[in-house]
Amino acid sequence: MASPLLVNVAELLRRAGSIREIDRQIDVAEFVFDDARIVEGSKVDVALTLEALTDGIVVHGKLQADWKFECRRCLRPLTGHTEVEVQELYQAVISDPDAYPITGEQLDLLEMARENVLLAVPLAPLCRADCPGLCPQCGADLQSASCSCSRQVRDERWAALDALKTDENQ
Ligand SMILES: [Zn+2]
Ligand SMILES: [Zn+2]
Repeated sequence: MASPLLVNVAELLRRAGSIREIDRQIDVAEFVFDDARIVEGSKVDVALTLEALTDGIVVHGKLQADWKFECRRCLRPLTGHTEVEVQELYQAVISDPDAYPITGEQLDLLEMARENVLLAVPLAPLCRADCPGLCPQCGADLQSASCSCSRQVRDERWAALDALKTDENQ
């Protein structure tokens, strides 16, 4: 299957300083993210500028994608939108180890966009900074419910843990 982000750069390669804009919305299925955080059926917004240098093409601009995940403390489902600024180099003759390849007179933005989106979506989000999470004993969501578990028991557990840590340090 041909990449939907394959760009012919023959003209750019001919003249350093020339510029080409890419502005596309690409279905997430095209990226084969294979990552549950990426919202199925959504699109990745690709707004990039390709700028010819003497030894390559620099690609800079913005990628946007929708993600879903759950709060790492209370497991409440979360959705969000991520925007990531990118600046990457493409080269026909690779001299920079981080450069992506220009093959023939084409470069493919797909893998570069895929990697940058995956790095940008959160790994362990919180529904809010002070989310109290779930009760470790009964599992109640402490943000919306208070439980009848004894606070004392929890404190004793922490005390036991503190004692352990103190022992380790001695
Ligand atoms: Zn939460
Ligand atoms: Zn409880």
